[in-house]
Amino acid sequence: MCGVFGIHGHDEAANIGYLGMHALQHRGQESAGLVAVEDGRLRRHVAMSLVSDAFDRESLAKLPGRTAIGHVRYSTAGSSELRNAQPFVFEYAGGQVSIAHNGNLVNANEIRSELEAQGSIFQTSSDTEVIVHLMAKAKVAAQNDVLARLTYALNRVRGAYSLVLLTSDERMIGVRDPNGFRPLVIGRLKDAFVLSSETSAFDLIEAEFIREVEPGEIVVIEKNGMTSHKLGFDQGSQAPTFCVFEHVYFARPDSLVNGKSVYRAREKMGMKLAQEHPIEADVVIAVPDSGVPAAIGYSRESGIPFEMGLIRSHYVGRTFIEPQESIRHFGVRLKLSPVRSIVDGKRVVVVDDSLVRGTTSRKIVKMLRGAGAREVHMRISAPPTTHPCFYGIDTPNRSELVAASHTIEEIGRYVTSDSIAYLSHDGMMSAVSGSSSSGSGYCSACFTGNYPVALGTENLVQLRTNRAAR
Ligand code: AMP
Repeated sequence: MCGVFGIHGHDEAANIGYLGMHALQHRGQESAGLVAVEDGRLRRHVAMSLVSDAFDRESLAKLPGRTAIGHVRYSTAGSSELRNAQPFVFEYAGGQVSIAHNGNLVNANEIRSELEAQGSIFQTSSDTEVIVHLMAKAKVAAQNDVLARLTYALNRVRGAYSLVLLTSDERMIGVRDPNGFRPLVIGRLKDAFVLSSETSAFDLIEAEFIREVEPGEIVVIEKNGMTSHKLGFDQGSQAPTFCVFEHVYFARPDSLVNGKSVYRAREKMGMKLAQEHPIEADVVIAVPDSGVPAAIGYSRESGIPFEMGLIRSHYVGRTFIEPQESIRHFGVRLKLSPVRSIVDGKRVVVVDDSLVRGTTSRKIVKMLRGAGAREVHMRISAPPTTHPCFYGIDTPNRSELVAASHTIEEIGRYVTSDSIAYLSHDGMMSAVSGSSSSGSGYCSACFTGNYPVALGTENLVQLRTNRAAR
């Protein structure tokens, strides 16, 4: 869970980078950083905070140059501390390079152990640093052949990576892994090229969306324009497997990801949910913000009016986003409050995009009953989350995923709703792909346990341990 951004060839590169990162803030709130290049020198500023707190006029002024890359981070590999804040800057025989990574590598620990045994000294606990070390070690004909170094490194790693790199000779590089788990899009802002995790950043800076970086593609942007290269190897399933959870929850609804409107996909999930699991009720409400488009879809399809029955305070972060359990527990009540005049005496359908541990739903049901709801019917616009993600979405261990060890009826009893129902896998797939329900072209491992790229030893151990623990 991270966002990456880059702008090449703009007089206000750092300022535009700062704005772009704002529009990607939902992808990570732990740290924010920018690296800019001028006269062959990379300058970096990172902080453990939101974008608006990480930068001020002074820090942006210290990042001169016409090309810059940025990163917002939510840790899924490596701990939450400054040394892991990206973009990283490193120096090797070919010059300086900076790297920003969204995704998770599954074999980083194996490679790291191997490199450490050979004498490498790692400075962070981030999986991204493995790519950096491999790039430095690559045997290439020309020292500054960053493309050859990168291809060598990416040939060794497995998993999810959407990368933006910046070299001291002002080349900006974008890469997506062969499966294309995480998004990465290319835009133009007048003469400048822009790379971003999501198009939401283009709308803010008024850049034009050109196209996606294709799975397994490397784009190199330099003074003369952009060239496209192939990674030239295949590490997973032949077909791309874009993360379906980006559509379900993670991406911003105003973004286009994998060529599709996130808002429309969520709305369709809600419509399908109403077809699959209708219920007699007086009002449909959403768990804001991520549940809103699906609730609108449910309302439209069922004919039951949609109301804002839960209000979200925008002055606290996402509930999940604070890593400690204690704060997360408090988070729900801190963030959401019911509107009594909407729910009092009513039969309420409450739509959320996903149910992970079940603690949010349980608290919401209690809150709604406290505000007078006569009946509360939970509707989840995705299938039960049964498996952890190892490709870059923060999901808890399998033992904490309530659907990994409980039936839907048991979950209903736990959250104390009058009824509970989930969207089917086919329903979700037809909502995102528009046609086939097979799910090809998407990774839905968190709902099925079918991991499209072979997991690393550590991931397998984690899966096994959790199974044994139950
Ligand atoms: P839980 O209480 O664990 O069932 O959390 C479910 C809530 O967390 C839902 O409202 C989701 O919108 C949200 N959610 C699901 N997955 C994630 C995630 N990876 N990060 C942050 N929030 C999430």
